[in-house]
Formats: sequence, C-alpha cells, structure tokens
Amino acid sequence: MVKKRCDPATTPARLRNAHQETTKHARAISDANWGELVRQLEYKADWYGRELITLDRYFPSSKRCSNCGHVVEKLPLNIREWDYQECGSHHDRDINASINILAAGLAVSACGARL
Ligand SMILES: [Zn+2]
Repeated sequence: MVKKRCDPATTPARLRNAHQETTKHARAISDANWGELVRQLEYKADWYGRELITLDRYFPSSKRCSNCGHVVEKLPLNIREWDYQECGSHHDRDINASINILAAGLAVSACGARL
C-alpha cells in the first residue's frame, strides 16, 4: 500500500489543518493503547459487577443531533461546534457526542437495543 502524503506547498491551509488534526488525533489514540484501556474497563466492570457496553466504532456520536436524532453527512474534526437549522440546536461536538453515547448505552442496557 502506498501512502499519499500532503504536499504543504500545494495543499490549502484549511486542508492541511484538518489533516494535521486527524493525524494528531489518531496518534493520541494510538499512544493511549486503546486495547489496554478496553481491557482495563472490562476488568473494572467485572470487578464491580457492572455491565460494559461498547458501541460500534462507526456509531455517529458526533454527527447525530442529540435533540432530534438527525445525522449530518460530514463533520470534519476541526469543526468543534455546529448548528442544525431544522431543530434549531447548537452543539458542542464533544458534549453532543457524550449525550448520544449515554443515550445509546442506556438504550442497550434498558431495552437490549442493537446499534
Ligand atoms: Zn436536531
């Protein structure tokens, strides 16, 4: 597989920033050793007699409006706040994602919903 690299001389600044943000985000997750984090969560959940609910990695937690459930098509990582005109909601990306993740986890826990 051949990786494409951004040429800073020909890439617009907006795209360079988005690419750098994506790379930085991926590196942060890799540095955190995601597998070890999941293993620790499973261990702690078992220790305390709790249920660990995991969501599909493609669950649109950031792109889903936590007010009405609409999912926007694209939401680049550099967009930290967004509005959904149809329901008049304003969202902080991370807070919106946390609301959606909590709602999904509760739906799975209470109703056995499949996501
Ligand atoms: Zn909405």
